[in-house]
Amino acid sequence: MRDGAPPYNAGVSFLNADLHCHSVVSDGTLTPTFLARRARANGVELWALTDHDEVRGLPEAREAARLAGLAWLSGVEISVTFAGVTVHIVGLGFDEHDTALAEGLSRTRGGREARAREMAADLDRVGIRGAYEGALRYVGNPDLISRTHFARFLVESKVCHDTSEVFRRFLTEGKPGFVPHRWAALGAAVRWITEAGGMAVIAHPGRYPFSPTEEYALFTEFKAHGGQGVEVVTGSHTPQEYLKYADTAREFGLLASRGSDFHSPDESRIDLGALPWLPGDLPSVWEALADRVRHPVAA
Ligand code: AMP
Ligand code: MN
Ligand code: MN
Ligand code: MN
Repeated sequence: MRDGAPPYNAGVSFLNADLHCHSVVSDGTLTPTFLARRARANGVELWALTDHDEVRGLPEAREAARLAGLAWLSGVEISVTFAGVTVHIVGLGFDEHDTALAEGLSRTRGGREARAREMAADLDRVGIRGAYEGALRYVGNPDLISRTHFARFLVESKVCHDTSEVFRRFLTEGKPGFVPHRWAALGAAVRWITEAGGMAVIAHPGRYPFSPTEEYALFTEFKAHGGQGVEVVTGSHTPQEYLKYADTAREFGLLASRGSDFHSPDESRIDLGALPWLPGDLPSVWEALADRVRHPVAA
């Protein structure tokens, strides 16, 4: 992989690891290269790009990380349907060239185009015209039109003041522009990641509208399928949720992850790397993935 010692002690919680963010290859606004530079400028030591259902940004991310002097892990965020709810599973440290993973992701992306046209038709019913074409102007990857692109169009059209208002008034269950969608199965997503040599991690568990029983079922089934990690410190969690999911990680014997879920300088509340540390006693995903980390070659 590389010569020489890693530039950090991989066995510590106090590592500025940011293992969740998005580029123009999904619904972020920066290229992988600009994300790597921003991560470095913000003090990130270990970085992963985790575009939705897509690994085609990884070659650029890997090279940009090398040039920026950042340690790097491959990453992806897979959309899954569990108990009728969309759940996101982050994959880390897999072989970026794995064909079964690529095929699974391609199938997962497959319904987005038709869904986007239905979303636009539904917005049209409440008087919002041209949303499909409007959203498309924000899309960097034609295979990955997402609700975020519609949200940007609704802000541009002055229907809403910002994207968080969009997700309060539109595009979510019961609101105009919402189209139910069936994503990958939980077991399939975990299998694609683990069979490609990577680790599956439950993304931002605090965001799902589950009852305690349903949440317990998610963690139990995730473990049974071979999932190993959970995001404890993420841009989507409140400080109380850091504590709650630290407890969940201990209860289920899951490794803890940390990631901003950064999408855009204009939209994201939490910048790359600008997160609290993991609770010191929790084993981290990066300790277990140490042999998969790509280190920039020492000068
Ligand atoms: P999609 O994969 O097309 O369903 O889009 C999901 C994306 O929408 C997420 O990855 C977020 O980037 C964005 N999103 C969903 N809910 C919200 C929210 N409440 N506030 C801001 N962005 C959101
Ligand atoms: Mn997103
Ligand atoms: Mn997510
Ligand atoms: Mn994300």
